[in-house]
Amino acid sequence: MAATPSPADAPVSGRHRVAVIGGGSAGISVAARLRRAGVSDITLIEPSDTHWYQPLWTLVGGGQAPLHASRRPEGSVVPDGVRWIRSHALAVDPDTRTVTLTGDAELTYEYLIMAPGLQLDWSDVPGLAEAVGHDAVSSNYAPEYAPRTWELIRRMRSGTAVFTHPATPLKCGGAPQKIAYLAADHWRRRKVLDGIRIVLVIPDPAMFKVPAWSRVLEKVAARYGIEVRLRSEMTAVDGGARTVTISDHTSGTKETLGYDFLHAVPPQSAPDWVKASPLADPASPQGFVAAHKHTLQHPSYDNVFAVGDVANLPTSKTGAAVRKQAPVVAGNVLDVMNGCSPSHRYDGYTSCPLVTARDRMLLAEFDYDLNPTPTFPLLDPFKERRTMWAFKRYGLPPIYWHGMLTGRL
Ligand SMILES: Cc1cc2nc3c(=O)[nH]c(=O)nc-3n(C[C@H](O)[C@H](O)[C@H](O)COP(=O)(O)OP(=O)(O)OC[C@H]3O[C@@H](n4cnc5c(N)ncnc54)[C@H](O)[C@@H]3O)c2cc1C
Repeated sequence: MAATPSPADAPVSGRHRVAVIGGGSAGISVAARLRRAGVSDITLIEPSDTHWYQPLWTLVGGGQAPLHASRRPEGSVVPDGVRWIRSHALAVDPDTRTVTLTGDAELTYEYLIMAPGLQLDWSDVPGLAEAVGHDAVSSNYAPEYAPRTWELIRRMRSGTAVFTHPATPLKCGGAPQKIAYLAADHWRRRKVLDGIRIVLVIPDPAMFKVPAWSRVLEKVAARYGIEVRLRSEMTAVDGGARTVTISDHTSGTKETLGYDFLHAVPPQSAPDWVKASPLADPASPQGFVAAHKHTLQHPSYDNVFAVGDVANLPTSKTGAAVRKQAPVVAGNVLDVMNGCSPSHRYDGYTSCPLVTARDRMLLAEFDYDLNPTPTFPLLDPFKERRTMWAFKRYGLPPIYWHGMLTGRL
């Protein structure tokens, strides 16, 4: 294999056998697998010079990991032999097989892997974009704010802490509540929990999609005295006044709560240029890319596959899901290259490491039918465990960097 090229080496225009849009968890994992299978002429379009391992951001916000442990230079994860074009994709025309990039550059492809992740819609909640990063508002959903979450938690001794979860599909559906448990456990250990009112706002009718884990989480929330507002959503923030508006979808009422600390998770959707493209699924209000739920192939364009957060799949958007999707997409691209129908199938596997305390975790793993699919079948998955917390903190990052991103696991 050739040495890893620098972005400057990569010719932008021209025809490319495989174009991968997005060099995050999904794009790198698929590109690595295609390279391992001997595919040449793979081009990666990725504007950022930093690759992030986002699952660590919950622990960064909880004061359990430094931000730098979640970051590597993008060039160090681009597989050998893959061309990296450091640019934004601005548009895709699947009929002419063309991707438009910044600077009016264009390239054409034979096969396209859509993996640009999702966008955080801070402006969709009035006042949120202005308040986040100031006014005692933070969010683990962006690396610039995650360390601030811990600063705010650490400093808090009394008052009201509000944790919100958006009503849109989001990455890591458990992350909005995990940080509430990490904060509550910290306050309990500091003996200030009794003086802090904790409100957890969740848009769904239950705390988790799978009822068995939902029941465990109800007990976890009760243990910390957390006030759980189901079927509710943050609909406005006033950073100056330090108030947040919570809309209750059952009663149709709105309540304005004063906060001393707000952990806000913004609404999320496909990047705007994806929404505007013919690849967007008309059935997805957030414009995620249409993909067959088992093969991940686009229903109208046989040479296009979607993987990761941008794919409109009826499962939770996680890095763990990407780990199972990547071999399916790579295998199916090879099938199509060989003139065959896609033969690899994704079963909807996803996993949410539900951190419930500073040293405890539940590993929720399930498929499209919400059946538990435990990696460790001998361990009861509904029991909080110290070993699982250690697995998340110390086991999963090396598996990610050395196994998943290299296409080995
Ligand atoms: C706080 C938090 C906690 C999480 N916890 C967990 C967890 O515990 N377990 C778990 O499995 N998952 C977790 N996740 C989710 C996980 O990180 C994502 O599901 C995963 O990163 C999705 O991979 P992706 O490649 O689709 O998107 P990303 O990894 O976000 O990558 C998208 C890439 O596309 C690039 N891009 C964007 N726009 C363009 C463009 N126009 N052109 C080209 N490239 C573009 C971006 O720069 C980025 O590199 C968490 C996420 C967050 C935010």
